[in-house]
Amino acid sequence: MTEFDRWRARSPYYNETHEAVAQSVRRFVTREVDPNIDSWELAGELPRALHIAAAKAGILGLGFPDEFGGHSDGFDMFHGLVQTEELCRTGAGGLSASLMTHGIGLPPILAMGSAEMKQKIAPGVLAGEILIALGITEPSGGSDVANLKTRAVANKDHYVVNGSKTFITTGMRADYLTTAVRTGGEGAGGISLLLIPMDAVGVSRTRLSKMGWHCSDTATIHFEDVIVPKENLIGVENGGFMGIMMNFNRERLGMAMSCCGFARVCLEEAVTWAQQRETFGKAMVKHQSIRIKLADMARQIAATQSWVDQCAWQVQNGCDQPADFALLKVQATQMLEQIAREAAQVLGGASYITGSKIERIYREVRVNAIGGGSEEIMLDLAGRQLFA
Ligand SMILES: Cc1cc2nc3c(=O)[nH]c(=O)nc-3n(C[C@H](O)[C@H](O)[C@H](O)COP(=O)(O)OP(=O)(O)OC[C@H]3O[C@@H](n4cnc5c(N)ncnc54)[C@H](O)[C@@H]3O)c2cc1C
Repeated sequence: MTEFDRWRARSPYYNETHEAVAQSVRRFVTREVDPNIDSWELAGELPRALHIAAAKAGILGLGFPDEFGGHSDGFDMFHGLVQTEELCRTGAGGLSASLMTHGIGLPPILAMGSAEMKQKIAPGVLAGEILIALGITEPSGGSDVANLKTRAVANKDHYVVNGSKTFITTGMRADYLTTAVRTGGEGAGGISLLLIPMDAVGVSRTRLSKMGWHCSDTATIHFEDVIVPKENLIGVENGGFMGIMMNFNRERLGMAMSCCGFARVCLEEAVTWAQQRETFGKAMVKHQSIRIKLADMARQIAATQSWVDQCAWQVQNGCDQPADFALLKVQATQMLEQIAREAAQVLGGASYITGSKIERIYREVRVNAIGGGSEEIMLDLAGRQLFA
């Protein structure tokens, strides 16, 4: 058993069904991802065929309703966590971010969309044939969601959309964007969610290059007098804010689990290196200060993983609260930053050379503390909910 897996075998939340999911996703990653990830990083995006292969392997549909081609019967929150963790094994954050964008784009449709919309979109998304992304952030800012400016003006049977979204994951390839727009007055009560086809007249996209997540395409998406039928409204007019907030909780739990997964990759790489490399006449792991460093990494990962599992249990038992996800996300992202740093120290110069997993993870740690709700916003949200 590797450092990566050791915790799961002794956790009360996991049994042989979770191990079976882990094995299945691992086979997919070994077969489809590991041989190709470096070329996808260079290409700046994932091939569409990967989404189809992931659907066939049961990955895209895990946790989604069976009636749309998902697999929810017999699965719990922890199967989802295991899958998230296994997708981290390859050490490239862009893989999950872009392969699993439907994890943030589709839930608002399933929670609030019309029966026709669900039937039209969900089966294709879960089969990997339709790519869907989520558009909340705008060039004027992402933290102050209630103040977003992209406007959809109602006109007979359609809306006319003007504005832009930025930093959108899978934004260059998406077929549809679940888009937050202003349909009413100022503030949260004037926001709706609209499903916008990316081939609509007046939509244009600009590719953004980034520090990390290279295999995940990221875009600014512009809307210029885009006509969107009213039947593409997700839920009720001016009722979109709650849908956005509900979505965030799941996203934050998933990001926290990813942080644990990547931290575990870092630990595994560092342990392997420390066992094999000799300095001052003996294996590095025989030096007390290195052993302490590794043990301290394991301590921080285990503590964060326990909190992830507890939050998942709370979701499963209907006693979760947004403040917990917000605090957990801060804990997990800060933990990963520290672990990536320590792993890089253990590897020394090798950690700085392109091609090592640590080099990539180290470059990618920052996005976790910003995307899906930044650190300051998370702490403020929790502080308001818990103490004010
Ligand atoms: C790689 C990547 C992928 C992304 N994917 C998506 C996506 O798919 N869809 C999507 O909608 N968005 C996406 N985002 C956007 C992300 O959610 C935003 O970057 C994030 O919400 C922060 O918004 P901002 O960057 O506009 O920062 P701003 O809102 O401008 O804030 C800048 C900084 O100031 C801090 N700050 C702001 N206000 C306060 C305050 N009142 N008190 C203290 N500090 C404050 C923030 O914490 C932040 O650190 C992505 C971002 C990245 C980098």
